[in-house]
Amino acid sequence: MEVFDCHTHPTFNSSMFSDAAKSNNIDYSESGLLREMEKNGVAGCMAIGLDESSNRCVAELANRNRNILPIYGVETQTIEKSYAGLKKLAASGVFRGIKLYLGYENVYPFSKRLDKFYRLAENNDMTVIFHTGDTWQSIKRSKQGSMVKYSHPLNIDEVATTHPEMKIIIAHSGNPWTEDTAEIVYKNKNCYADISGWFFGKPQNDSMDLMKDKLKFLVRFGGKDKILFGTDWPLAGMHDYINFVSECGLTSNEIEHVLYKNAKRLFFQNS
Ligand SMILES: [Zn+2]
Repeated sequence: MEVFDCHTHPTFNSSMFSDAAKSNNIDYSESGLLREMEKNGVAGCMAIGLDESSNRCVAELANRNRNILPIYGVETQTIEKSYAGLKKLAASGVFRGIKLYLGYENVYPFSKRLDKFYRLAENNDMTVIFHTGDTWQSIKRSKQGSMVKYSHPLNIDEVATTHPEMKIIIAHSGNPWTEDTAEIVYKNKNCYADISGWFFGKPQNDSMDLMKDKLKFLVRFGGKDKILFGTDWPLAGMHDYINFVSECGLTSNEIEHVLYKNAKRLFFQNS
C-alpha cells in the first residue's frame, strides 16, 4: 500500500530535532530520510520548515527530490520579515504551503495580522497548515511561553468559514481535542486534519487503545476523505506510525484513504 507522509521536519540544521532523532535512533539526514521512505513505501512527504534557515533547508531538499513538498514555516514574532521572505518565493511556486505555529507564538488563526498570509496562500494555491493541540515544552517561539488556548482546533472554524477557498490542514488533529477537530473537518469542505505527533518515539502500550479509538472517531465522524497520514518525523519513525494506522480497526478502504489517497487528491490533483 502506498503512503504519503503529510508532516515531517527534515530541517537537519535544527538541534532540537537532531536530539529527538538521536533518542529515537533515527538517521536524521537526507539519505536517512530517503532510506526510511523507501523502506516503508512512503512515496512522498511534506517537509515543514520552522524558521528562515530551516525554510531554506527544506526548499533545497525539495529541489533535489521532486517527491518532497516544502512548507514555509512562518515566524509571527518577526512577521514583516517572514512575510517578505515568503512573498519573494511564493510566486515561483517553490513552497506548496505555509505553516503557522499558533500556540507556540500566541497568535489566533483569525488574527487580522495573518490576513496577508492567507491572501498569498489563496493566490498561489498554497495549503495553510496550523499547529493545533498540545504544545511541546522544548519548543520556545515566544517570550511568554506557549499557550494552548491559541492552538485549540475550534479556533480554525472562523478562518475556514471566512476563507472557503483556502485549503487548510489542522496539524496533529488538535490532539487531545480530536473530537472538536472531527467536527471542524466535517463541517468545512476546505478543512483536513493530519494525525502526526500523537506519540513520540515508540507508541506507548497503555495509550494505544485510546489513540486507536480517537483515530476511528476522526475518520468516521470527520470523514474518511478528510484525514491525512503524518508522523512528525523524526519525532516518530514512519514504520511505527504506519503500523498504528493499519492496526487500529479501520477498513482497508478507510486506511488507503488516510495513508495515501487523500494526500494524492489534495496535492497532486493536476498530475
Ligand atoms: Zn510538526
